[in-house]
Amino acid sequence: MKSTQGFSLQIDKLKTSLDNADAVIIGAGAGLSTSAGMTYSGERFLKHFSDFREKYGFSDMYSGGFYPFPSLEEFWAYWSRYVYINRYENPEIPVYNKLLNLVKNKDHFVLTTNVDHCFQKAGFDKSRLFYTQGDYGLFQCSLPCHNKTYDNEESILRMYAKQKNMKIPTSLIPRCPICGRAMSMNLRADNTFVQDEGWYEAQARYENFISNHKNDRVLYLELGVGNNTPIIIKYPFWNYTNLNPKAIYACVNFNEPYCPPQIENRSILIKSNINKVLDKLV
Ligand SMILES: [Zn+2]
Repeated sequence: MKSTQGFSLQIDKLKTSLDNADAVIIGAGAGLSTSAGMTYSGERFLKHFSDFREKYGFSDMYSGGFYPFPSLEEFWAYWSRYVYINRYENPEIPVYNKLLNLVKNKDHFVLTTNVDHCFQKAGFDKSRLFYTQGDYGLFQCSLPCHNKTYDNEESILRMYAKQKNMKIPTSLIPRCPICGRAMSMNLRADNTFVQDEGWYEAQARYENFISNHKNDRVLYLELGVGNNTPIIIKYPFWNYTNLNPKAIYACVNFNEPYCPPQIENRSILIKSNINKVLDKLV
């Protein structure tokens, strides 16, 4: 089912649902960071990666992340720049602050496929976050030979600062402290992704939160979730809403938001920029 109601009516419904909710569960996808200006193509890509574009031909940051660079020196020149601008450079992103202001006085939890650390930067409590797909701020062993992740800020900043002609000095290539192999980013791209102790603890906290509120007035607030991995946020949110007659499903998406007919009468579908919706709610 798609939305047929007007924008302001939908905003009013969402505001009422927020006010009445015992708990809010935010499900956030890439569209939330895009609405905050963290775009991975166009002008922002050209500003930082025109040299890589000229040499290798890819035209957005995401595609560049999958490019088979001929050496680790080039790989890390690319990735340190990528992580620096998306994880360490921007201290604060207003969209996330607005979101925190909306839910901070409610029992809330965030499930996200985003890896850019924006929730933490905005001041969300880490114990209320489950970021399932990794974090730009973490390294892991590329094999991996052990299940641990490592804070990468110092290493990224050094590689970012010392690169020349799209290469970092060989001595700066990050190495696994256990086996000496090259490190890799802790991002879920294939089956080498490390789910460390912290990951499993966050998963358990999320599952407890869902279970503790399974009969309450819960608002499942889905923001900017695309169709790449609907199995992580979108489908479970539909399912939980269906199972609990007091739950409301709200979906804000710049592309067409939709829901299954079983939960249509308890769904709020808003086709709009998330930033604009948050401004109206605040
Ligand atoms: Zn290792």
